[in-house]
Order: sequence, then structure tokens, then C-alpha cells
Amino acid sequence: MEQIQMVDLRGQYARIKSEVDAGIREVIDSAAFVKGGKVAEFQHELEQYLGVKHVIPVGNGTDALQIALMALGLKSGDEVIVPTFTFVAAAEVAALLGLVPVLVDVDVRTFNVSVEAVKRAITPRTKAIVPVHLFGQNADMEALLSLAAEHGLRVVEDACQSIGAWYTFSDGRRVRSGCMGDVGCTSFFPSKNLGCYGDGGAIFTNDDSLAAAMRAIANHGMTVRYHHDRVGVNSRLDSIQAAVLQVKLRHLDEYGAARKQAAAWYDRAFADVDKLVVPVRVPQSEHVYHQYTLQLNGIDREALRAYLAERGIPTMIYYPVPLHLQQAYRDARYQPGDFPVAERLCQCVLSLPMHTELSEEQLEYITRSVLEYI
Ligand SMILES: *Cc1c(COP(=O)(O)O)cnc(C)c1O
Repeated sequence: MEQIQMVDLRGQYARIKSEVDAGIREVIDSAAFVKGGKVAEFQHELEQYLGVKHVIPVGNGTDALQIALMALGLKSGDEVIVPTFTFVAAAEVAALLGLVPVLVDVDVRTFNVSVEAVKRAITPRTKAIVPVHLFGQNADMEALLSLAAEHGLRVVEDACQSIGAWYTFSDGRRVRSGCMGDVGCTSFFPSKNLGCYGDGGAIFTNDDSLAAAMRAIANHGMTVRYHHDRVGVNSRLDSIQAAVLQVKLRHLDEYGAARKQAAAWYDRAFADVDKLVVPVRVPQSEHVYHQYTLQLNGIDREALRAYLAERGIPTMIYYPVPLHLQQAYRDARYQPGDFPVAERLCQCVLSLPMHTELSEEQLEYITRSVLEYI
């Protein structure tokens, strides 16, 4: 049996090596390393795939979020609601821009932002909500969008973990993750569901004027060369990354199917185990399993991790500390105990190996090892 990894990028590359190598070689031969044709080709292919009007390739997912918030015309002190149980990026860029990240608790079933908590956090200064589609399943967008419409708020989706995941509205409309709000952001960090071989990211929107603003911001605030209409940043996807992404986008649905198969295997093995809560799938969202995350019930997490590690099975804790208890985001507004769901999840979540190359033999071994420990 091959050594088990959290993410197996080497095994994935082996199956697409000739396509990827040809794409990279083409870029090197053309010497169009930045803003080459490959970037535009990939942009259009991703627009097609997502069914969205504008894709703006940028340097990484964090930049995507920052540029999105910069384009909304917010003022210093404006409030942006973000979940406290997530990766730090959305809160970080809000703080960097002089906005006030307002943290809220999450739903214990889905790990995604609680709509009730968002409702309670809205004040006259609230200008935007950043739902994070955590672990690959869309947040409750129908409820969030109607709340946002009611209060005149912008919605910036953090789709860094959920690219491709369909969401079905109650009227039957199906929309891909990141294409429902005003703006969607994604990351092409190597371990993401659509990952490149370095850093990369993209912004999605159906709004022409926001798209123009974000394109300019990502390019030093320029629309006409060397004329700077606003303060911008330098954030771009390079052509070699675009060449890799072009190949991997063609395989994305097949990669999603492989992740779902692995998740189904885990689900079957753990469904009747009282001490394990398997990830809940809500009917309105597809789950693309960026992570497969269990909740442990009365199990010593560190002991289980050590037991599995001894057997060559890596595990991860996403995330060990909620944002309101992080040194950088601690603030007089928040006390330990304020967000009990997030705080409990940080104590009891455990993510198992999840990638596109897991064999049945590996899945059998992982599930058997977990069950043996229990
Ligand atoms: C990965 C990730 C980001 C940041 O993406 P980078 O490309 O690493 O900047 C932001 N939000 C979430 C939820 C992520 O998983």
C-alpha cells in the first residue's frame, strides 16, 4: 500500500503529467510568463465552467478577498460579518483595510456561518457579510442573500474550499459556489480542490462595474497604463500556473467524484458509531469535500491522532482556535464562551486524509484503524 497522505499531489500529477508538462513547456517556449494567452484562456474556461460573467485571476485567495472588499467602497469603521470558525483570511483583510471584522458563531451541523447569529450581529454600520463555504459545502446562501437584501448589505463569498459546488435555490435555480453573492473569491493554493503548482486565486462576479473596479485594483489601480485612478495592489496569476489550472479544470468534476467516493466510504464506516459525528450534507448544496471532518464525541483527540500517526495515517485539525480567541483578533468585544459552537468544534473536530488518489485499500485501512481505536 502506498504511504497515506493528507493530500497526494504527486500521485495526481502522475496521471496528468504529459498534459501538464506540455502546457508548462508551451509557456516557457512563448516566454509570456505574465499576462500571457494562457491566463486569458483559463479565465474564459473557468467563466464557462462556473457560468459566471467575469473571472478575474489574481495572485492568491487572500488577495482575492482583499480586492473584493476594496472594490465595495467601504469606509474605515464599516463592519463586515465573518464566521469565527474558519481560516483567518477574510477577517485579516477586513482588519488590514481598516474595516471592523464582526465575528459570529457557526452552525454545529454544517460548520458554516449561522444565519441567526448573522441576523443578531447586524448594526447600522454593517456593510457586508463574508460567508465561508467551509470544507466544501455552501453556506445557507438563500437565507443569507435575503437577509443581505433586506438590510442593503453586500455579500462576498469565500469559496476557497468549495469551487464547483452547486447550490440549489428553492425555485430550482442551480448556481455554482462563489457565483451567488456580489462577489466570490477562490484560491488555487496547491492543496485546494482546484490547485496550481504555486500560489494563485480568482474573483468571480456577474456585476460589470464591480468587475472593472476589481480588475483595476488588482493592477495598481490602473485602467489606462500609468494612470492610477485609485490605490490598488499588484496581484496576478502567472502563465505557468494558468497552464496547470487549465489542465486540472478539465479534470475537476472527476476529482470531485473521487472525493465524494472517499467521503461515502468514510460515511458508511462511521455512520453507526455513537462517538463519531460524520459531516452533515444539506439538501440544497453539493459537498465537494475539500476536507472530511468528523466531530469526536467523548474520544481523546490527541490519543486518537497519535494512534493513527503510529499506523502511518496523518490527520489534521481544522481549526484549533476560533478567530475571537486568536492573539491578533482578541478584542474587548469578545470573551471566551461567547461563541460556544465554534469553541466546542475547535476541541472536537478531526479531518481525515482527503484527496483524489485515495485507494479502497487505503480507505479500508484508515476506517479500520479508527474503528479499532474506538
Ligand atoms: C485557502 C483559503 C484562503 C486563502 O487562500 P490563499 O490562496 O492561501 O491566500 C482563504 N479562505 C479560505 C477559507 C481558505 O481555505
